[in-house]
Amino acid sequence: MQKLPPISNIIDFDTSRLPQLEVTRQRNQVQPVKNNIADLHRQLVLQLQTSLEADRLLSMFFDTVRGSIPVRGLNYQHASTDLHLELGENAIHSMHYRLNHQGENLGELILRSDCHFDESQLTQLEALLPCLLFPLRNALLYRSVILDALRDPLTGAANRVAMDQTLSREIEMARRRGGLPFSLLMLDLDHFKSINDRHGHQGGDEVLKAVVACLKLQLRNMDMLFRFGGEEFLVLLSNTPLEAAGIVGNRLCEAVETLPFVYKGEAVPVSISIGCATYRFPESLDDLLRRADDALYQAKRNGRNQLRMAI
Ligand code: GH3
Ligand code: MG
Ligand code: MG
Repeated sequence: MQKLPPISNIIDFDTSRLPQLEVTRQRNQVQPVKNNIADLHRQLVLQLQTSLEADRLLSMFFDTVRGSIPVRGLNYQHASTDLHLELGENAIHSMHYRLNHQGENLGELILRSDCHFDESQLTQLEALLPCLLFPLRNALLYRSVILDALRDPLTGAANRVAMDQTLSREIEMARRRGGLPFSLLMLDLDHFKSINDRHGHQGGDEVLKAVVACLKLQLRNMDMLFRFGGEEFLVLLSNTPLEAAGIVGNRLCEAVETLPFVYKGEAVPVSISIGCATYRFPESLDDLLRRADDALYQAKRNGRNQLRMAI
């Protein structure tokens, strides 16, 4: 993820309103191009009513802004809904805005250009930005509701619903492409019942959260982690053949084993067992999961804290 440089502007939508168009930017006595901007504003307001997808809204905004200002690229980030968007190209000059409405963070926006934004361009830009307020706020709300429906509330990992949807899609894609490899890692915490017995259910919950955070650190952005059941998880590794998936799995085992987890002052050793299976065209999802589960069972039988490959 790209790190944002310090924010230089805060657009508070409560104080930044279209009527500003009517006034001259006092500082430099630059007069905005009223008609042009008013037209763009009207056009943008109508367009932004047509979608609830934040990335589509920002893309419309970008296209409209480009119609009047030489903007080359747009970067938008909204951490709490995990939205990171990069449109257009990179350029050396940039304007940074932190978008706020009534204390609510609506994300951080960077607009890039090959040359310095002059006062007239900034006035135009800042006159168009408020058009984003309600559409973007609604889209972020919608996105967060959808995310919540697909996320396990305890650990933040994707839930079963998300897993079923994603795996069905992955299988369908693999079948259509004639079997490009993807792999699954089925993970289960070792002796988790004893962790609960010793540290209480709350202690167990903290272990689950720490393990998920640890696994996420080891995975690529495109890999997906699902909570399969109580203390069982599934990792989907797209475009990954068996051998590479085995390397990832071993890395996960090692990372969890060396996790320095402490609960109420007491060190809690944690480990996981993993079954690894690669999709074999044209097997069904159930067959693939069964093979991963059998491999996990072998890892448990073989002493836990290890990975076993499916046959
Ligand atoms: P093994 O190494 O064979 O996997 O042993 P285990 O003790 O991990 O396996 P078992 O299936 O016997 O125990 C799983 C436990 O996980 C039982 C259940 O109470 C606990 N569990 C399931 N979901 C949660 C949860 O959300 N929070 C907590 N704290 N415990 C959970
Ligand atoms: Mg289990
Ligand atoms: Mg277990």
